[in-house]
Formats: sequence, C-alpha cells, structure tokens
Amino acid sequence: MALPTHCPNCNISFDGGDIYEKISKTFPEKSHDELIEYCSHYGWMPENKKNFSNIIHVKELGYGGYWQCPECEWNDRKEQNL
Ligand SMILES: [Zn+2]
Repeated sequence: MALPTHCPNCNISFDGGDIYEKISKTFPEKSHDELIEYCSHYGWMPENKKNFSNIIHVKELGYGGYWQCPECEWNDRKEQNL
C-alpha cells in the first residue's frame, strides 16, 4: 500500500522535503558523490528523487505495525476498520 501524502483526517501534508536537500544540510562536509551514495540508501536517485515523509510508523509485535499522523493521531488501522 502506498503511503498517503496527506492526512485523510486533518489534511496536513506528510511531505518532509527532498531527501538530498535534507541530507546535504545535515552533512555539509560531505561531497556531492558521497551525498548521492548516502541518499541511495533511502531509495533516492538523481533521476528518481524522493521526499522524506513525516508520517509515523508505529511498530507492533506480530502485526508489523501501522502508520499514524503526527498531528491528529489518525492511523491507517482505523482506516481499514481492524
Ligand atoms: Zn492528521
């Protein structure tokens, strides 16, 4: 299941910004090539850019967990009526 980009309940954006831009600010000493290598661990590539998501992954033993909105605590388990 793809992650929602907005909360279905309170409608805040889960967009946490471009991964490369975030990482380059966190590690200003890294070279461009090092940053690309680092970002690739998040699935980010120059020709396939991705953004971080602010959505929270709540882990639960045996169930794999569920996603929760950091603002209103909506979660996809409620969505699925489990
Ligand atoms: Zn919400």
